[in-house]
Amino acid sequence: QQAAVPSRPSDSNLRSPICCIMGHVDAGKTKLLDCIRGTNVQEGEAGGITQQIGATYFPAENIRDRTKELKADATLEVPGLLVIDTPGHESFNNLRSRGSGLCDIAILVVDIMHGLEPQTIESLNLLKMRNTEFIVALNKVDRLYGWKTCRNAPIRKAMKQQSEDVKNMFKTRVNEIVTQFKEQGLNTELYYKNKEMGETFSIVPTSAISGEGIPDMLLLLVKWTQKTMTKKLTYSEEVQCTVLEVKVIEGHGTTIDVVLVNGVLHEGDQIVVSGMQGPIVTTIRALLTPHPMKELRVKGSYIHHKEIKAAMGIKITAQGLEHAVAGASLHVVKPNDDLKYIKKAALEDVESVLSRIDRS
Ligand code: GDP
Repeated sequence: QQAAVPSRPSDSNLRSPICCIMGHVDAGKTKLLDCIRGTNVQEGEAGGITQQIGATYFPAENIRDRTKELKADATLEVPGLLVIDTPGHESFNNLRSRGSGLCDIAILVVDIMHGLEPQTIESLNLLKMRNTEFIVALNKVDRLYGWKTCRNAPIRKAMKQQSEDVKNMFKTRVNEIVTQFKEQGLNTELYYKNKEMGETFSIVPTSAISGEGIPDMLLLLVKWTQKTMTKKLTYSEEVQCTVLEVKVIEGHGTTIDVVLVNGVLHEGDQIVVSGMQGPIVTTIRALLTPHPMKELRVKGSYIHHKEIKAAMGIKITAQGLEHAVAGASLHVVKPNDDLKYIKKAALEDVESVLSRIDRS
């Protein structure tokens, strides 16, 4: 099955922003992604999925469709959104840091009933350290006592349907959580009241169960990244690509899951990947992606591509990947490139990855 390169608006030269999702365990990270995808990874579609990094591509058409009630179709300039999902378990610090290091923006999920929790603060510190932009998804608004469900509605529309009691409870919770963020040295504000985006972080109330606020969250992510990160998101010919995981897949042998941050990959490209026993020089046999809105980790049919433009989560099959090192870069060898320099870069890369693993 061959597929066209994902469509992109003709007048834009931007790649898809990469977004990661972080927060305390049980805040609703998986459920939020399921809600946007319309799938059910949380209830076992993926089986054992929690120990890996996942990547899901949301094409602009889907985002446009989900946000149409907010009447903002004209503003989408990026081809889509790539969401990286990192495991929550403590022993996966290294994977979490690898995933979050790739992202242009993060969603920090906070449970409205619990406020800031230990792993929320841990995530915050990681975001501060890397200077990563983020928005807060204040999740589980449907748990406010007496909440009236308005399935998939923009949050202000949903809020208008609520009783005074619910509105007051909501205000109290939001104020408490804004104070908790202030204690961490950060200004936050409900996104529709936020006049100082960039200095004050935006809060989007959401429900991952009934979908209220999801349109707002998607639109905010896309609008904010394409407005403030134009340079970073400008599509480049230079390939920037990171190996997330090395996996044996039935029928494909050893494969690597990568995130293509910028540039384009082709079937047949000569690549250099860092390996435990030195740089691996090989040729891309197949470029595979899951179907849009599906998880890279979930077993299923893959789409074969002749070429893929960034940003995308991709499974690559090639010979000799058995000792590839996750966390390192993938380099593409172009006709005039000196293979010696690329191999040297791959060698240095593996040293820096291994020293990071030692420290974590
Ligand atoms: P994660 O650990 O952050 O990935 O959290 P999960 O997505 O696994 O969610 C933890 C629990 O909270 C699950 O039982 C979800 O069904 C539930 N949950 C997640 N989001 C919501 C929400 O918006 N509203 C309600 N009522 N429950 C939610």
